[in-house]
Formats: sequence, structure tokens, C-alpha cells
Amino acid sequence: MATHPPPIILSFRRTFALLIVLVVLPSAGLSGFGVVAIINERAAVEKRLEAAWKGTLEGLAEELPTVLRAASFEREEGQWWLVDAAGRRLSTRDTFEMEGKQVRTADKDLATALQATGTSSSDFPRGTSLFSLVVGGKATLLAAEPRNGTVYGARVSQEAVEALLAEWGEGQQTSSEPVRFVLLARQEPLPGEGLMGKLASEVAQARASALGPPTLAERTLDVPLQDFRLGVVPLGEDPVARASTRNRLVYVVLLALFYLTLSFGVVYTGRVLYREARLSRMKTDFVSLVSHELRTPVTSIRMFIETLALGRVQDPAQTQEVLRMLTQETERLSTLIERVLDWSRIESGRKEYHPETLPVSDVVETAVAAFRAQRLEGDLKLTVQVPEPPPPVHVDRVAIAGALLNLLQNAYKYSREDKRIALSVRQHRRWVELTVEDHGVGIARRDHRRIFERFYRVDNLLTRRTEGSGLGLAIARRIVEAHGGHILLKSELGKGSRFTLQLPVEKV
Ligand code: ADP
Repeated sequence: MATHPPPIILSFRRTFALLIVLVVLPSAGLSGFGVVAIINERAAVEKRLEAAWKGTLEGLAEELPTVLRAASFEREEGQWWLVDAAGRRLSTRDTFEMEGKQVRTADKDLATALQATGTSSSDFPRGTSLFSLVVGGKATLLAAEPRNGTVYGARVSQEAVEALLAEWGEGQQTSSEPVRFVLLARQEPLPGEGLMGKLASEVAQARASALGPPTLAERTLDVPLQDFRLGVVPLGEDPVARASTRNRLVYVVLLALFYLTLSFGVVYTGRVLYREARLSRMKTDFVSLVSHELRTPVTSIRMFIETLALGRVQDPAQTQEVLRMLTQETERLSTLIERVLDWSRIESGRKEYHPETLPVSDVVETAVAAFRAQRLEGDLKLTVQVPEPPPPVHVDRVAIAGALLNLLQNAYKYSREDKRIALSVRQHRRWVELTVEDHGVGIARRDHRRIFERFYRVDNLLTRRTEGSGLGLAIARRIVEAHGGHILLKSELGKGSRFTLQLPVEKV
């Protein structure tokens, strides 16, 4: 028949699989989402920077036409200049004059463009007006002012405008990176070039805006300057690239940390779950083991009582023998029950200790007396060695003697014919060491730690034949540790074992 894993282990596997599905799948989805977000992140950073600059550009776009209109034409160095209130020249040397429909200018393209509009000098309103005109295929910003029937005008200087923008923008920096404000003109297709020309110029414009100064934000000026845009251009390193590199780094580090803690969590939970599953199986084993252990003495007791009740034993010597065996079985029973109760007291934290300062020999004598009282069969050879004077310890005598008794009982139980047991005491630095050494079956290396676990019994022929609960060493360890000590083990399979109780020496 095939063996199946016990249901506890099965449910452990199912729980663990569920844990993996519930934790790992969503986290993988989350990471995938993060990767997509990182890919889209450049656009997001651009949006953020654009939003940051939008307000500043809005203000500048309102201020620029107002300031340009407030400037007026003045004649200096033999030509007309557009001059603002602070005396700054805002126009270039490309000037023009218009009288009626007649245009006078040194710039041929400008003359052609002005004439093509069909405007005459009488169309200009009073004061400085601004307008844009496509000159030589490029949008050009012009300013003009009528005086005594003649209109004086000039190209507005891009450098002068950008200098103004820089000045105003200074006080309105919205983010930390250094920037420059620029005036961008729309590239117009050259007139008369037909559909192909138009297409080519549009392609060129698209490329220019893709490669050309990478503006963080743009704002088209209001009519009549709709052919111009104000832009914010970063100086130095591209802040978009910088921000997205930083974000990527942070994401990668966080992701690595996340997976590290996740793996740790999964491994840890798995171990805890597995331990719990194993413990629960051990408890089930323990219940069946204890019931089995209880049944044996109870059956014998019943048999002895029946024998006595039926009056089958007449001889007083025989009656004595039956009564002796009855006592022995009852003792076994109460020891077992006592051990189970002891463990439950320790586990639930109800165990109380009453430590007193006494010579370690008191503990040894109590344990040895109890051990000898067990009327063990076979030729047991127990030697006891305690230094003179015995070192003092501060312990609960009953509890520590119980732990030592357990070591003696184990040494006896797990020895075959050679039942030599040596109990020795020595003081080593700040420790008092009680060592029980036997020449029994020994313990394999891999079991050295586990025999101190509750309910654990080494699985071999001898243990199966010997009564036990797997609780003795677990209880002994808890008791010794509650006294600030340790249990040490040195053993080799087939050669015997040496258990040592290490207790702190009491200073007197
Ligand atoms: P129990 O003796 O009731 O089974 P213990 O907790 O006292 O429980 O011991 C746990 C296991 O450790 C035993 O089942 C036995 O296999 C092993 N063991 C303990 N002491 C010895 C020893 N002196 N020699 C060999 N094996 C031992």
C-alpha cells in the first residue's frame, strides 16, 4: 500500500501554496505595473514641470504685449527705435515707414510682405500697435506707430524681448532648476510652394520641435501675436532626464527591498507553518503514545486486583509479591501523569520555582535516592563523584533534582547490557556542572538538538520498546534554563552519551 502524507502535512502544503498565490501573484502584478509606470514616467515628469511653469508663462504672456504697446518710437542715431519707459531699445535696425500705401524700407522681404497686406497708413490706430507678419517664410513681430500721417515701424528684437522676459521671470521662478525664457516663432510654409512644399515644411517643423530646444512648457501668445509662443528652456542638464533617472533608481532599490522582505516573510512563514504542522502531528502521536503507555499499567493493575479479589493467591509471600508489583505499576502511572502535568504547567507559564541556596550535593543526593528507589533490574553500576566542599547553587531543589533524575533514568533506559552510569560534579569557572555519562546506544549528530524538543523521540528499536513520552528532556531543559543554566550534550551513536547540566555557581 502506498503511504500518503498525513492530513496535517497536506493542509500545511495547501496553506503554503495559498500563501504563495495570495502574496507572490499580487506582488508580481504590482512590480509589472511599476515597470509600466516607469516607462510612462518621462511623460509624467514632463507634465509636472509643464504644470509648474504654466502660471509663470501665463503672467509673462499677458505682460509682454502690454509693455510692448506702452513703448513708443523715438528717433536716435538717424533711425527710429521702439523705446520703452526705461529707455531700452526693443526694436532692430530693420525699420520701415509707410505713407498711404507706399512702403519705404531697406528690407526687401519686409516691403513685399507689407505691401501684400494691402494696408495703408490710415488703417493704423493711434499709439503703438503690434502685429505679426510672415516675412520670408518666418513669422515676424512688428511694431508701428503713426505720426502726422506717416507710420513708423520696426521689427521687434527677439534678444530685447528675451532680455525683458528674463528680467520678469527672475522673480517668478517656480522650480529650482535654472531656465531661460524664449520667444518662438511659428515656421510658415513659403507661399507658392504648393502642397509638397507645405508638407516638407511641416515635417521640418515637427522635427524641429522634437529635437530643437526641449521646452519644459509653452504658451501661445494671444491674438494678434498668435504666431508666437513663449517657451521655458532648461539651462544645463535636462531636468526631465535627471528626475526620471532618480525615480528609476529609487524604484529599483525599493523593488529590491520589497522582494527581499517578501522572500524573508515567505520563508519565515513557511518555517513557522511547517513547525506548527509538525508540532500538531507530534501532539497527536503523543496522545496515542500516552494512551498506550497508560493502558499497560492499568491493565496490569486490573489483573493483579482481579487475582487478589478471586482469592487465587493464598500464600502470604505471593500476596506480598503481587502487592509490590501493584505499587510499581501505580508508580509508573503516576510518574507519567506527573510528567504530562509538569509539562502543561511549564508550557502555560504556571510553573513556580522556590529557589534556595544549598550545596549542590543536596540536589545530587535527592536525585540519586529517587533513582535508586526505582528498584531497577539488571546490574546497574552507578558511581557518584562530588568535590569536597561541594559548590553552592541557588536552585529549586525538587525541580533540578527532577531534571537530574531524568538524565539518570535516560542513561539507564537507553543502555543495553553495559549499565555503567557515572554521575560527576565539578566547578568550571562560574558554572557548576553535573554530568551523567553512560555507555549506551548514543545519539546521532542530527538528533542532538531535536531530542530537547517536546514530544520528540529518536525513532529506533530501543525507544519503541522503552516507555517514554518525549517530554523528559524538554522539561529538563526548560527547568535548567529557568535557573539561568544550560544542558550540554556530547554523544556518538553506539558509544554512549554525556549530558551536562550547567548551573551558575552561587556566590557566598
Ligand atoms: P523519553 O525518554 O520519555 O522518550 P526524553 O525527552 O527524556 O523522552 O528523551 C528524548 C529522546 O532522546 C529519547 O526518546 C531517546 O531517544 C533520546 N535519549 C535521551 N537520553 C538518551 C541517552 N542517554 N542515550 C541515548 N538516547 C537518549
